[in-house]
Parts: sequence; C-alpha cells; structure tokens
Amino acid sequence: MPVTTIAGNPVETGHWIGGKRIDSSRRFRSVSPVDQQPLGEFARGGTREADAAVRAASEAFPTWSRTPAETRAELLHRIADEVERRIPELATVETADNGALLRSHVRSVMPRVAHNFRFFADWLTGELSHPEFDTRGHRNAVSWDPSGVCVLITPWNAPLMLESWKVAPALAAGNTVVLKPAEWSPATASVLADITAVAGLPDGVFNVVQGLGPEVGAPLCAHPDVARISFTGSEATARRIAAAAAENLTPLSMELGGKSPLLVFDDADLELAVALAVEQYDNAGQVCLAATRILVHSPVAEEFTARLRTAIGEIKQGDPRKDDTDVGPNIHPDHVARIDGFVRRAVASGARVLEGGGPNTELGGTYYRPTLLDQVRPGAEILREEVFGPVLTLEVFDTEREAVARADDTRFGLAATVVTSDPERARRVSAELTAGTVWVNCFFVRDLRAPFGGARHSGIGREGGTWSFDFFCDVKNTVTGPKGWR
Ligand code: NAD
Repeated sequence: MPVTTIAGNPVETGHWIGGKRIDSSRRFRSVSPVDQQPLGEFARGGTREADAAVRAASEAFPTWSRTPAETRAELLHRIADEVERRIPELATVETADNGALLRSHVRSVMPRVAHNFRFFADWLTGELSHPEFDTRGHRNAVSWDPSGVCVLITPWNAPLMLESWKVAPALAAGNTVVLKPAEWSPATASVLADITAVAGLPDGVFNVVQGLGPEVGAPLCAHPDVARISFTGSEATARRIAAAAAENLTPLSMELGGKSPLLVFDDADLELAVALAVEQYDNAGQVCLAATRILVHSPVAEEFTARLRTAIGEIKQGDPRKDDTDVGPNIHPDHVARIDGFVRRAVASGARVLEGGGPNTELGGTYYRPTLLDQVRPGAEILREEVFGPVLTLEVFDTEREAVARADDTRFGLAATVVTSDPERARRVSAELTAGTVWVNCFFVRDLRAPFGGARHSGIGREGGTWSFDFFCDVKNTVTGPKGWR
C-alpha cells in the first residue's frame, strides 16, 4: 500500500476501511503550506469507498455496541497512550500538513487530542449519570444507547484535535465511525487509523476515507445506513450536508463559522485587552472562535489602538517549525487569495489599513500579514463575513447599549469576549450577547464538561460532556410499572 514520508515520518496514503488499507485509482496531492513542498498523493475516494466504509462500520456495530462500557473506555485510554507516545511524530506531520505552529502542536494540541480520548472514556464510565425518576410508583430509567454508524466530517484548521473531539465520544458511546478528514490536511487522520489498530480497536469500528468533499463526503452524508452526521466546517458546506441528510432524516450536529466580537470597555485593563486582541492572530487567524471584530469604548480608543499597533508590530511571522514564530502561514494559496479579496474589497469601500494589509511576499505565497483595519463602513462585507485569516477590524462605540447592539449585529453566534473591570457590567453584557461561549477577561479556556457550540448560523447542537453523548446516542427512557419494579 502506498506510503509517503512527511517530515521524516512514514504516513499511509490509503483509506482505512474494515481494518485494512485500501487504495483508489485516483489520487489527490497534498502540499505543505509551510514551503509549498508536495507531501504525498492521497487516495481520492468516491461513492464506492463511502459505501465500503459504511458497510464495514455497520458490520462492526453489533459487536462494538454490546462491548461493555469499561472495555470500550479501556481501549480509548490505550489510544490516548499511543497518541501521547507519538506526540513528536503527530506534531511534525500536522505542522507540515496544515502549517500551524509546531510548538503549539507539541505543547497543547496533541496532548489535548490524547485528553479528548481520556475525557470521554472517563465520562462514559464515571460521570454519565443514569437518572431514575419515580412517577406514581412507576420507575423511569434513562439510558444512552449507541445509535449506529456515525459519519464525522472535519476541517483543516485543527485537524486531529477536532477529529478526536468527535471520534472519542462517538466510539465511547458504542457507535462505529467513518471519518472524512479535510483534503487540505489528510495526514494525521491516517496516522490515527494506525494508532487505533495498535491500541487494539476491532476492525471496522473506526474507518477513514480520504478525498474531496463533494466526491466522498457527499455520498457519506446521503447514505441511508448512517445514524448520525457530525460536521465541523463552513456554512456553505453545512447547507449541502443538511440537504443530503434530509432525505434520510439523519440527525445532524454542526459546528460552523463565526464573526465574534471583542468588546473593550473604558474600565478595561488595557494590557490584557491588547494581549487578548493579539491572540486573535493565533493559527494565522484560522480559528472559528476568533474574535475578529474589535469594538473599543471611545474614551480609551486612542490609547488602545496605539498599544495594539505596537503589539502587532512585534508579532514574529515565519516558519511554523521555529520556536520563536508567533504567526505562520495560511493553509493554501487559494485561501490567501480569498483573504486578500476580503481586505481589498474592504479598502475599496473606505476601510483604512492600520497594519498589514497584504501577503508577506518575503515569506512566500501562503503567508498573510497580521492585518488591522479601521474606518470600516457600517454593514460592510468585512464586518459580516468570516475571513478565516489574520484580519481584525476595529470599531469605536460610545455606550454599552451600542456596544452590545453592534456586537450582536451578525448572523453568527459562536463566541464573544468582553474586557471590563466592572463585574456588574460583565454580567449585564454577557447576559445580553447571543453566543455559545462568552469569555470575560480571558479567551479560549474551556472545560470539556461544558457545552461547546454556536447560536444562529454558527451551528446546530452542542458538544462536550453529556451533550456529546446526547447527540451520538439514542437516549432511552424505560418505564417500569409498580409490579415489575420492587
Ligand atoms: P469546509 O466546509 O470547506 O470543509 C469542511 C469539510 O467538509 C471538509 O472535510 C470537506 O471536504 C467537507 N465537504 C465539503 N463539501 C462537502 C459535501 N458536499 N458533503 C460532505 N462533506 C463536504 O470548511 P473548511 O474550509 O475545511 O473549514 C473552515 C470552516 O470551518 C470555517 O467556517 C470555520 O469557522 C469552521 N470551523 C468551525 C469550528 C467550530 O467548532 N465551530 C471549528 C473549526 C472550523
């Protein structure tokens, strides 16, 4: 079976179906955003591979779903052990594949991948409560039953982290899985397949099909034997997936895009506010949660802007493999062209470039300069659409009411960040905002027991803790009459 070498590590380029490597007659090329070097030719699946993967997962389901929870949990812990053992390999492969910082992959992302497996294993065996209610002598017993084959479709911005965030609860719950990773970052999903085999997961319980969304993702989502579709990606793809799923009424969970605000009030710690604003350039702005619309209170606008510009000037952009790099490349030259299109149209409609404003040509075709725009026309495209790149806008507000109204003036509702030293204001504003997560004087920190997801067009449903089990399971209430109970 074909294997390629990525950053010195062998990576299988075939699908992983029923515990075997399967090739396709057609292939697609993966190119590194770091230096535009080709990484390998991956199998390019279609309807045939989608059918084969769903069949393998369906065949594995009866046994896996009846496997005791403790055994399933133990296997997930073994997967976590193997992920931890292979952190250097996973980190270097993923940095080559999607261009995110190597130091983040080593220190936080890959440990979090392992943690996702451990967390859902422990939640299954420890925390997943099984409530019982007594109604006039009748016992109601609630259980979370496995639902069947789960199709998981994921994006390229944090491939293995987002994959494990779905794979772990789906498997813990007793389902079997077909994962379709993004075609711009196919490599670590393939390594994960090897890891599940080493951990001893039975054949067919976890399957990976590689390929392009419309060619192999679409038939997976339209497949009648699929019990759940969990998708993380863009709004446009979400609509296509929802339309495909409608035919079979397949339940969907969707984690989509955002246009989140960062509100800086006049009582804010400005040093913290600037640090939080600069954090929005992490992963070259390719973070669904990124607070890309900065709204600053007029009394501190001048000082905040000056301090933010200084901080942006200190950002070190460069090779993501180097330890002192703050911002690396964007995923693909096409994506950079898309980012630049947003900035150019914003400028053409009156916006002013305070920092950046174009590709960093010294570094190559995938590096876009951390950009800050102000004087943006109200209602402009750059305030409405997700750029998914290192581009922030700066707006000034006069009153709290205006701040909340502007922050909420979006069809998205993934997250919001509020910077204020006034606890009453923090409470008032957080309560008013429409968002799946509100951060006050912080960003990105989240307990895995808490719900994660978006309001409005940012998603459907929530993931995390019991919310993940609610989605991946058929939640059952068994009511036993008084005679059969005691
Ligand atoms: P995308 O929608 O283009 O692709 C996501 C996945 O869908 C890929 O695997 C792709 O191959 C697949 N796909 C494409 N067409 C399909 C079809 N017709 N049927 C089935 N699958 C199909 O998104 P992207 O560009 O990879 O990712 C960026 C988007 O993801 C941004 O909007 C970002 O905000 C969002 N995102 C959201 C979260 C979250 O948790 N809310 C996290 C990360 C990224």
